[in-house]
Amino acid sequence: MQTLKMTEKLYYSDSHLFSFHAAVLACTGSEDGGFLAVLDRTAFFPEGGGQRADTGTIAGIRVTHVFEKDGVIFHRCSGPVDACPDALCEVDREQRLRRMQNHSGEHVLSGLIYRRFGYSNVGFHMGERCMTIDFSGELSDSDLAGIEKAANEKIRDNIPVTAYFPSPEELAATEYRSKLDLTENVRLVKIDGCDICACCAPHVSATGEIGSIKILSSMRHRGGTRIEAVCGMDALDHFRLKQENAEKISALLSAKQDEIGSAVERLLRLSEEQKLKIAALSMDCASLKAESVADTEGNICLFEDLLDDIAIRELVNRLSGKCRGMAGVFSGDDQTGYRYIIGSSNADLRSCAKAINAGIEGKGGGSASMIQGHSASCAQKIRDFFNAFKLN
Ligand SMILES: [Zn+2]
Repeated sequence: MQTLKMTEKLYYSDSHLFSFHAAVLACTGSEDGGFLAVLDRTAFFPEGGGQRADTGTIAGIRVTHVFEKDGVIFHRCSGPVDACPDALCEVDREQRLRRMQNHSGEHVLSGLIYRRFGYSNVGFHMGERCMTIDFSGELSDSDLAGIEKAANEKIRDNIPVTAYFPSPEELAATEYRSKLDLTENVRLVKIDGCDICACCAPHVSATGEIGSIKILSSMRHRGGTRIEAVCGMDALDHFRLKQENAEKISALLSAKQDEIGSAVERLLRLSEEQKLKIAALSMDCASLKAESVADTEGNICLFEDLLDDIAIRELVNRLSGKCRGMAGVFSGDDQTGYRYIIGSSNADLRSCAKAINAGIEGKGGGSASMIQGHSASCAQKIRDFFNAFKLN
């Protein structure tokens, strides 16, 4: 590609420019089958500062990614773009506005945490669902509740957000947050009384545009705190989703929406009580089933789907005492196969496990008195094997 002059970055002077005209200087095929278009000026933000690249169209051709190399901004397009002095270019507006709401919201949160606790933002990721921000110190739930409230007060106060390139002297005299030790071309994003931070991304014009900031979760992370947060329209979407879920749970449990927590607690308690009852009933049932089986010189084979594992073990133990051979209990069906537990009070099952597994297309093992595993045979084949097989 011929030497290209640096692209004029329109997103620096106007973060709300979504439709513009520019000259298409070049468009070349890229190795992966895409096309890279270069304009004389662009409002497409390339990825940077934790914010992903814009998408949109150039002369109606889809722009799927944007990146910067040596001051030239490349627009990855889904098709070739003809050279043109005055192409209409459009940035996907809704996506960019949401990203700016989140990114500026992140500056508000990070600025307030830095000012109040002295902790730095040491990691920032803007995901599909929310932002993830890592701070260098531990923050309690009440610390974060205070920060969240203060952040939303900054939104209410609608403070201007300004971005500028300070002179070296100005920069040296300014205290600002920065992840990198840059001294040249540092762009500062300033929110009065809240934050000054080195950042290359486009931001909202005033904090009111962020709409709202909601911290969703926090956890300890590498000696500091990782929070998830969401701002603006994304916060509204998030709230809607939560509300839909709360409405669903509320209707299912016949509980008021602000009481669904205790309603779920009651349900889980009830479920725990029922589990204990079922376990006790299973053991009773295992005893009764064992009693109903006649003593035999051969083997015993039962198919049982209702009992839990502990009760099946108990059943196998009891049946082992009723036969000279082996007692097996199988759970499952012919389509998906059977889980088995086999016991014997007379023979060493460990030494017979290979022969048993061969006879029932099984896999498994265990102790001398009990083996367990899985069988791929059908019920009839398993019964036939138990009728015919003699333990050593
Ligand atoms: Zn930033």
